[in-house]
Amino acid sequence: MTEPYELTAWQSVEYMQKQELSARELVDSVLSRIDQVEGKIHAYHTVMRERAETTASQIDARRASGDDLPPWAGVPIAIKDNICLRDFTTTCSSKMLENFIPPYDASVVTKINAAGLIPIGKTNMDEFAMGSSTENSAFGRTCNPWDLTRVPGGSSGGSTAAVSADETILAIGSDTGGSIRQPAAFCSVTGFKPTYGRISRYGLVAFASSLDQIGPITKDAKDAAGLLNILAGHDPCDSTSINQPVPDYLAALTGDVKGIRLGIPKEYFIEGINAEVKETVEQAAKVYEQLGASCVEISLPHTEYAIATYYMICTAEASSNLARYDGVVYGYRCEQQNNIVDMYCKTRSEGFGPEVKRRIMLGTYVLSAGFYDAYYRRAQKIRTLIQQDFDAAFQSVDAVLCPATPSPPFKAGEKVDDPLEMYLSDVFTAPLNLAGLPGIAIPGGFSADGLPIGIQLIGPALCESILLNLSYSFQLETDYHKKKPVL
Ligand code: GLN
Repeated sequence: MTEPYELTAWQSVEYMQKQELSARELVDSVLSRIDQVEGKIHAYHTVMRERAETTASQIDARRASGDDLPPWAGVPIAIKDNICLRDFTTTCSSKMLENFIPPYDASVVTKINAAGLIPIGKTNMDEFAMGSSTENSAFGRTCNPWDLTRVPGGSSGGSTAAVSADETILAIGSDTGGSIRQPAAFCSVTGFKPTYGRISRYGLVAFASSLDQIGPITKDAKDAAGLLNILAGHDPCDSTSINQPVPDYLAALTGDVKGIRLGIPKEYFIEGINAEVKETVEQAAKVYEQLGASCVEISLPHTEYAIATYYMICTAEASSNLARYDGVVYGYRCEQQNNIVDMYCKTRSEGFGPEVKRRIMLGTYVLSAGFYDAYYRRAQKIRTLIQQDFDAAFQSVDAVLCPATPSPPFKAGEKVDDPLEMYLSDVFTAPLNLAGLPGIAIPGGFSADGLPIGIQLIGPALCESILLNLSYSFQLETDYHKKKPVL
């Protein structure tokens, strides 16, 4: 065996079932890896060392006494720091919630615990999940394991960097406009945003409620399928969660994609797209054709409006969701205040970082009387047109194959002072959030400089299985997902 921390979840489960590896050994190996490389990466806010060690030892004791354990019991998992986990801080990488300790577990955490997965830490992110580089964190940036001078993507950059650097076996993140897929592409890992409502959002700190979705971040598609099996399902605590049976996603991994029709949207090959990214998608199409799938050009005509639409809707929803951070009930409160209005002002001025403030102001503006029709209502109409583009495409193809990002990972500092540039990096990921559809980013290759390039697959609502099987089949043929950064 290689070092246990290098294993995928399903590999580690095989070793554990054969009694060749204990949960404690696996956790200890991951913790030692964290000690070794975390100084360079800064993927975590909190490493839950003692809790992880204790849980692992308990699982081993139960396994030794012949208890019937869930199949994935003992596998470590990192959790993005906007997902509530009782008794540990959930900061959202914001000064506003620096000391916030949730009194309850998110529904996904309840499921993780019930499955015997072992939370190993809470990961860094862009503040309140607003950003594409993990530079908007109040607690310092995360570095891309493939090149420490570059960003890991965002906002789930801590989770994707942790998986990429073997600082965990599994992770979860949240995706509102690309925050799982874009950093997965930048860190060369598998990142999956399921259909809106497939996984409960109860206990996920809200950014833009009609777009937010939790999803798996893993070393390969098989792990993503296994983790989705654990996380998916209806939850009465989330009124938007889908009440439909959950298929066995692992069983869908046949490796057979013969006859599958893939659509390649011409609008995704815009001017300015990096040549190596384009080539990577073309190469991927060839791989699929060799496997017996067919690739055809399709059109998603309203793509060019997606970024503007996304940034109207997500800021509007954010301005409403973030109104609760007023210093009254929880979170940061300013020290000195003259009256209640002064307290609100100072608390919010001091507690939020610049990107969060920008979005609250933008969102308040697009919702304000006099501008509502011109901005928010119009954005909702275009959202419908974007949904209809996908509906029409799925009349003739089973899934969409496209780039995940317009470029390989960019340098830290390169875009952080230019919000518009940063927003444009979501051009390929945000459209499907507007349509509520599932999308997965998987490693597609590397640039001449050795930087990761991802490809993206998009499917019809609730067709997670097709995307997972397409990803799995690609990973049987290629070994990009097995390459590791040198640290
Ligand atoms: N980068 C996008 C944004 O800044 C997406 C964020 C997300 O998916 N949480 O809004």
